[in-house]
Amino acid sequence: MAFTLPDLPYSHDALAANGMSKETLEYHHDKHHKAYVDKLNELTKGTEWENASLEDIVRGTYQDGAVAQNGIFNNASQHWNHSQFWEMMSPNGGAMPSQLESAIKDSFGSVEDFKKKFSEAGVGQFGSGWVWLVKTADGKLEVTKTENGVNPLCKGQTALLGCDVWEHSYYIDFRNVRPKYIENFLDKLVNWENVASRM
Ligand code: FE
Repeated sequence: MAFTLPDLPYSHDALAANGMSKETLEYHHDKHHKAYVDKLNELTKGTEWENASLEDIVRGTYQDGAVAQNGIFNNASQHWNHSQFWEMMSPNGGAMPSQLESAIKDSFGSVEDFKKKFSEAGVGQFGSGWVWLVKTADGKLEVTKTENGVNPLCKGQTALLGCDVWEHSYYIDFRNVRPKYIENFLDKLVNWENVASRM
């Protein structure tokens, strides 16, 4: 069964007032994400992965410690990452649910300290990648960063929040200023209800 590009859970201009423009979503979702889906379908056709679940492909093709991941992994993981990413944002993300807020305070001291750690990790990811808030196998919350398409599934962790720090995600709206993009993401774009629901 071929993979398909999921629709955005909001219109293309829904996040513009919060710092993610219609043009960014037209490129990022309609072109970049679509390209990962198309390539994944092309690369898995006729292979053992053709009818596998996306999660099984990501876990099954990840090569721990490899300098460069293989094409099936790269496109499967980026399809998974972006599918989560759209859901993790909202035009009205609202307040952080109390259960999530107390878990964040337990792990990081305060919400501000968490945001600082998340921003530093995202800014510190050299080149393309992602920054995450994850729940580890033993139930702790941690901030991690990953290169290219690598994600928490590869490490047996649950992704609670992920921010795409590839240049294609911020260059139209923030040019080269990745720290501003991440700060804006945390303050104006995150759907905290969605993050809490992943706990
Ligand atoms: Fe992206």
